[in-house]
Amino acid sequence: MTFGHKHSAGGGREGVAGSDDLGMIPLWAVILAVVAFVGIEYLVHVVLPKPRAGLFPMRLMMGYSSGTLVASYFLLVGYVSRDVKRRSMSAPLWMLIVTLMPGGIGAVVYFLLRQPMLTRCPHCATEIASSYHFCPQCQFQMAPVCGRCFRGVEITDVYCKQCGHDLAEDQVPARLRVFRG
Ligand SMILES: [Zn+2]
Ligand SMILES: [Zn+2]
Repeated sequence: MTFGHKHSAGGGREGVAGSDDLGMIPLWAVILAVVAFVGIEYLVHVVLPKPRAGLFPMRLMMGYSSGTLVASYFLLVGYVSRDVKRRSMSAPLWMLIVTLMPGGIGAVVYFLLRQPMLTRCPHCATEIASSYHFCPQCQFQMAPVCGRCFRGVEITDVYCKQCGHDLAEDQVPARLRVFRG
């Protein structure tokens, strides 16, 4: 078992890492987005009265941009519906805010205010923020840290980027600690 850098520490099997963000969009949101896009194109090009010949490119643009806008709105709502759960925030409340506030303001508010992602300590299963370096309950080390200043380092670092400490001098250097069973 390995523990990566602080962004993906712990919970590997549950797919918590930020790298699979696209997989965070549920199927219903994708289907809704496609249906909405096709629906708007249909509305613009079939239902509305035919424009004069010269105006066709403009209408094509209009249909395309409004279709994309509405489709991405559904994808966003879908993303929030899943993202909210891994941060132990109130799902109904945030779904309501993101859905009802006009012009995507709800989504902006959500991304400004969302809590850090939660993960579980692999040792004692306490729920902790994924940015923690140590578990506050059992002192399990979640991420590699410098042996002198105890701030986070990357496993590829040779020296601490905060204090310049030679990481190889630590009793268990960060990279060994991370790659250890
Ligand atoms: Zn713990
Ligand atoms: Zn340091």
